[in-house]
Amino acid sequence: MNDRFTILLIKRPILLLVLTAFLLFSLQTNLLGQQSNANDIISIGSIAAAPGERASGTVEITSDENASFVPITIINGKKSGPTLVLMAGIHGSEYSPIISLQNLMPAIDPNEMSGAIIAIHIVNMPAYLGRTIYISPADGKNLNRSFPGKADGTLTERTAYFLTSKVYPLADAVLDIHSGDGNEQLRPSWVGYYSEEEDAAVVEASRKMAMVFGLKYAVAFKGSLTPKSKAIWAGSAAIAMGIPSIDVEAGGMGIVNHYAIEQIETGIRRIMDHLGILETSLPPVEEPTIFGKRFSVNAPSDGSWFPLVDTEKMVEEGELIGFMTDWYGKRIFEARAPISGMLILRLEAPPVKEGELLITVAKIE
Ligand SMILES: [Zn+2]
Repeated sequence: MNDRFTILLIKRPILLLVLTAFLLFSLQTNLLGQQSNANDIISIGSIAAAPGERASGTVEITSDENASFVPITIINGKKSGPTLVLMAGIHGSEYSPIISLQNLMPAIDPNEMSGAIIAIHIVNMPAYLGRTIYISPADGKNLNRSFPGKADGTLTERTAYFLTSKVYPLADAVLDIHSGDGNEQLRPSWVGYYSEEEDAAVVEASRKMAMVFGLKYAVAFKGSLTPKSKAIWAGSAAIAMGIPSIDVEAGGMGIVNHYAIEQIETGIRRIMDHLGILETSLPPVEEPTIFGKRFSVNAPSDGSWFPLVDTEKMVEEGELIGFMTDWYGKRIFEARAPISGMLILRLEAPPVKEGELLITVAKIE
């Protein structure tokens, strides 16, 4: 700074004020880790979008035995800002999230955005095309238990590794969007956030996203993610990397549920507004009711399952929720509510394997 400029500043207090404000703004945006993509091209594999552009394409993922591809849309805002990653189809038979992203992405104009969206439309293509629940038909693994993944692993592990190595490093926030799986009745819809990780700033940023998404209920996931090897879920892997993240659960039963689709689309718009990526004119939301501890009952053996109580009902501890039969129709197990609370998830279809979750009851905090 030369003397002439100093004199100019003293003579012009407004100029000094503007300069100070600019310096403070620059400092703040750096601390938030935002503005990192200012006027940069965002690219994943051969899919690349310059500021003000959108681009769609696929990334191939191959293992020694199998091959898959992941369809992705990048929408890079004209102005700089944070990057939000949206993921659907980690479980291939959860359709509401997949359709939400297909509806929403063409409706968003990059010229109105400050920041970027990276939408992973169907993460687990083998499970989607194979119509499997929980697992990939390629290797029998549950992708949402396979994070952070392995560069030289099975197809599912390599898919997780692709996300944590190529997509998460671009993200300022991650939304992992699910439904109840193809055999799961899940009601009400909820958002989940990791509430006890050591990095308080990540927990607080995640909690704020859960509060503004607009669903009636939120689950505060308990427990530590230390060591990082505990972060086997897609959302927890983001948290372990210091990236704010929430899980969304809306819809289920392998149905195209238009109510759930609308909930997800609206929630994503609210998160974009909350992060400063895109303004919306949506009304403010009421804070959700928080589910604290959740208790589940698992199948003691293989068999057939028949639920008796609807989800979203308040149940009393010990209340009969459903029963299992053997192959000949004889009742072999009764699932009773492990606590008093709300029945938020139940298996719907008869086939169950030993150890699988039958019901979940949540305590309202
Ligand atoms: Zn899922």
